[in-house]
Amino acid sequence: MPATPAWPPASTPRLFVDLPLAPGTAPMIDGPAAHYLLNVMRLKVGAPILLFDNRSGEWLANITEAGKRSLTVCIERQTRAIETVPDLWLCFAPVKKARLDWIIEKATELGVRRLQPVITERTIVERVKRERLEAQVIEACEQCGRTALPELGEPTKLTQLLADWPAERALLFADEAGGAPLSTVAAPAPAAILVGPEGGFTPRERALLLENAAVRRIALGPRILRAETAAIAAISLWMAQHGDWTTSG
Ligand code: SAM
Repeated sequence: MPATPAWPPASTPRLFVDLPLAPGTAPMIDGPAAHYLLNVMRLKVGAPILLFDNRSGEWLANITEAGKRSLTVCIERQTRAIETVPDLWLCFAPVKKARLDWIIEKATELGVRRLQPVITERTIVERVKRERLEAQVIEACEQCGRTALPELGEPTKLTQLLADWPAERALLFADEAGGAPLSTVAAPAPAAILVGPEGGFTPRERALLLENAAVRRIALGPRILRAETAAIAAISLWMAQHGDWTTSG
């Protein structure tokens, strides 16, 4: 007896919609999302899609009307409730475009709760396009199955970030000049990881950081890692020790 195929099929397209979703509602989808479903995935009336709204979770929907540039769906049932990701922030000095996209994509996949751009003295890329980061975050969530989008902070100067730093949140300062291995630093949630720019932190910034009681200086091995490598390595180590990787899938 052949097994009953899973429904919806694993290949079902999964999209974020900035609309409150609930059973029986019939949201209209247009713009790039509609183009993707109609022209890239060539979906027709009756086809299933998965939608999530960053409010209530993930929902199974069926296409009920398909036009040239928009489509209407009927929300059938909830497939997953909205998740609570570990309370870890990534504070990062913006780097050049492609590598910044990489940091955003990977940090989202790995499960951070907040992405906070930090402007340091040696930060080259001061202006980060918020819409671009938002698009990266959404695409990464659509791909990795997240139902909760990470928060996206406004770029903040390091001095201001430290002045407003919440005392209860450990700040794991990834310092290329040395520190303790992350595995030896007790920093359960709420926590944050700080990674510097290509030029590293200045001595003045290092001194300011080490004055802050919430700061824990960490080393990520003896080699100088690129900023994006350091960010991904530190997040992975923290997730394996304090995050949601400690529970079997
Ligand atoms: N220009 C700096 C230098 O030559 O010393 C290197 C900066 S590194 C490319 C960018 C950022 O990645 C650093 O500011 C730090 O936050 C992090 N990083 C790189 N390697 C690291 C390591 N071995 N341990 C801890 N953090 C590291």
